[in-house]
Amino acid sequence: MGEEATGSTFGPATNEEWFARARRVIPGGVDSPVRSFSSVGGTPFTAVRGKGPWLYDVEGIRYLDFIQSYGAVLLGHAHPVVVAAVTRAAELGTTFGVPTPGEVTLAEAICARVPGCEQVRLVSSGTEAAMSALRLARGQTGRDRVIKFAGCYHGHSDGLLAGGGSGVATLGLPGSAGVPAGSVANTIVAPYNVVPEIDETVACVIVEPVAANMNLVTPAAGFLAGLRAACDAAGALLIFDEVITGFRLGEGGATARVGVSPDLWCFGKVIGGGLPVGAFGGSEGVMAALAPNGPVYQAGTLSGNPLATAAGCAVLDHVCAADYEELSSRAARFARDLGASITAGGLGAGVASVGPLVGLFVAPPGITIDLPTDYDGARAIVDHDVYPRFFHAMLGRGIALAPGPYEALFPGLAHTELELALAVEVAGEAAAEVAAAMERT
Ligand SMILES: *Cc1c(COP(=O)(O)O)cnc(C)c1O
Repeated sequence: MGEEATGSTFGPATNEEWFARARRVIPGGVDSPVRSFSSVGGTPFTAVRGKGPWLYDVEGIRYLDFIQSYGAVLLGHAHPVVVAAVTRAAELGTTFGVPTPGEVTLAEAICARVPGCEQVRLVSSGTEAAMSALRLARGQTGRDRVIKFAGCYHGHSDGLLAGGGSGVATLGLPGSAGVPAGSVANTIVAPYNVVPEIDETVACVIVEPVAANMNLVTPAAGFLAGLRAACDAAGALLIFDEVITGFRLGEGGATARVGVSPDLWCFGKVIGGGLPVGAFGGSEGVMAALAPNGPVYQAGTLSGNPLATAAGCAVLDHVCAADYEELSSRAARFARDLGASITAGGLGAGVASVGPLVGLFVAPPGITIDLPTDYDGARAIVDHDVYPRFFHAMLGRGIALAPGPYEALFPGLAHTELELALAVEVAGEAAAEVAAAMERT
């Protein structure tokens, strides 16, 4: 292991010391609440390096990583094509504030792969993408109301935090302090997998076409097609938030997989190749309302940044349809074996998978899990509170899961059969340890 992996070039050697330092200057020691261990207890490890499916902390401990930056990483950490693309781009200058070839290339790459998406505007995060798509939908329709689904996460803009998944769910917050009632007055939160009533006051319906922020919840047959039909009948726009599913479920994301097309798409995570990028897009007609052509304002100093677009293009160019098929079948086997291993170890387990996405629910010994169809169902399983124990039993054995029960697992192209089999075996041992401890108490 190199010097950087042992942490000796990073001052204090231990995770405890780094986190103590972090807490002094960064609220809670983290720059995004999902990274805190507040729902599982303990101290987060501080990573210095990643390679493929592996992460290394400041103490030189190696973890098999299923966080993969919450889905931003598809090829594995420090993939040579991404490193080369970013290095080349950096040598040419990191930002100019004028048009660059890289942003054109990334926009072309996105539009070429997602059927129906003719134009995209690049931004710097998924939050910005969803926030801007919402503004565009309201500007286009001249209506104010928005429907979202409980347990779906669309970033942390004021109007979309209500009924949120991911970290908002993990922290058990109804939304957030600091959001004026007026900002959410036009946000209607509906249960996932039920087509809500949509009338002519609704500007848009925003949905994760496969819900991956309340753990993993799959769309019921007819749900997305039902939303499409109901939006059309009311003249409302349908927005697919594909920040996780885009370029992860396949080249055409959830749209191609489910065969339903929205009016607007939100992208992020994978399209930045590990750098900050988001995008929102739609048909030329819908996107025409955006400034400078139309009246809906949206902007960004670093939007379409040369480093980020170079990384994103490198990833999209590197993967082909066969890679996604291979990854999907590996993930399906992994999901099946993981569930069996945990059950054999003595805990209840339910493992969902959709293409490369995997969602793990754990429950006390003797409890059988039916995979949930909405946020209430996911919460009922999470409320057993077994996940924190299982999380630590895995982490102690060198497997890094997200420190919250509402996040999906992100096996990527760098996770070979070998690593997945290791995770399955370790999960059985971890489950046995947790089950034994629970039976004693
Ligand atoms: C992560 C995520 C976002 C927010 O993206 P950020 O880059 O974290 O702002 C929005 N929507 C979905 C579905 C996400 O998973």
